[in-house]
Amino acid sequence: MSKLDRIKAPRGTFDVLGEQSAGRAALEDRARAILGGAGYQRIETPAFEATELFARGVGESTDIVSKEMYTFEDASGRSLTLRPEGTAPVCRAYIEHGMHKLRQPVRLWYLSSFFRYERAQAGRYRQFSQLGAEALGSEDPAVDAESICLLAALLGEMKVASLRLRLSSLGSLAARQEYRERLQAHLRAHADRLSEDVRARIELNPLRAFDSDHPGTGAVMESAPRLLDFLSAEDAEHFAEVRAHLDGAGVAYEIDPTLVRGLDYYTRTVFEFTSDRLGAQSGVGGGGRYDGLVEQLGGPATPGIGWATGIERILLAGVPPHAAPATVDLFVAYEPAGEGDARAQSHAPAGAFALLSEARAAGLRAQMELAGRSLKGQLGYAGALEARYVAILGAQGEAILKDMLGGGSQQTLAADTVVHAVLRGLRSLSP
Ligand code: AMP
Repeated sequence: MSKLDRIKAPRGTFDVLGEQSAGRAALEDRARAILGGAGYQRIETPAFEATELFARGVGESTDIVSKEMYTFEDASGRSLTLRPEGTAPVCRAYIEHGMHKLRQPVRLWYLSSFFRYERAQAGRYRQFSQLGAEALGSEDPAVDAESICLLAALLGEMKVASLRLRLSSLGSLAARQEYRERLQAHLRAHADRLSEDVRARIELNPLRAFDSDHPGTGAVMESAPRLLDFLSAEDAEHFAEVRAHLDGAGVAYEIDPTLVRGLDYYTRTVFEFTSDRLGAQSGVGGGGRYDGLVEQLGGPATPGIGWATGIERILLAGVPPHAAPATVDLFVAYEPAGEGDARAQSHAPAGAFALLSEARAAGLRAQMELAGRSLKGQLGYAGALEARYVAILGAQGEAILKDMLGGGSQQTLAADTVVHAVLRGLRSLSP
């Protein structure tokens, strides 16, 4: 038979293995502690949603919706999309479950996979994990500040290197409309110096011109009108209060009037954390206020603010807290069957499995030999696992119990008293 081709994971996806998995678990634990402690509850939404949710929520003119979505028709002809972001689904769930009737603000966090058809490179994948937090139902600037501080705390605990926080305000939708027209006039006046891409989007999404790395566009943007100069008195006051809270909390930030996030739903506060450690994909996490989104999705007028941060980027730019190694209280070893034994030579005897089961039922973290190693090999393996005790089962219902930390001391006892002896030994160690 000819050898079959190896099947690889699709481009832009990856497997999470060994230590990476421990780092992710440690990050999740920290997030649960920080966000849970601040009153956020976990939410899980489906991996796919009606395409309309993102088209209406995120905006047709955005990169995400116009070119990055994994959209498909199911067998009944419905258009579905693998979620490219988490805010629109959370708002959909808020409306669907009548969460506006709960005490406000409703604060939710998630950690899930997201899908975008992007150019895959280091730090940019087609399936990636985002941790996000959303607070709905309050427009108090303190909620903005709290949201930002929680992300700062998480990134700080993960020791993300060379962290910068950029902050701006986009104002309300009405102020943005007036500003948009001014910006369009400026872009049209200098259209010949703009990149083709930016020129093509003057009508649809002029704000994205700020994100362009095209030199000509950059020069045109230097003299472009600034959204911060167009804020209404109310929006300016809101922004000032957010800044005052951040100052009070000792969170450093830079005002960046060119900060434009790639999603249409933002209003007022926007922010982004970057790390120079990440090279081109410097964004670690970001978010902002989206006071019109719930209404735009058919719900009651509800203010909201939130952020999302990329798990893979945090792990690239940070140092996850050391995850405690999986401890083994008891390793069950046995004398391999002698020559001529009818039992398959490499298989474990029934007594070993029974002891393993008894130990686990008693709450011990137990493992056993499963690969047919020699007795010497088994002891070496138990040592590598840093097992506290090793029980070597004999053929006559007896066992040698070795205390691997207590100077290798050992005793011979009946196999059915091993679990008891280990429990007693562990108990005598604990204070
Ligand atoms: P966004 O939803 O675009 O505001 O992204 C929020 C965060 O998610 C970014 O700061 C990144 O950390 C992360 N992120 C976004 N897109 C990707 C991607 N394609 N691959 C890995 N991480 C991503």
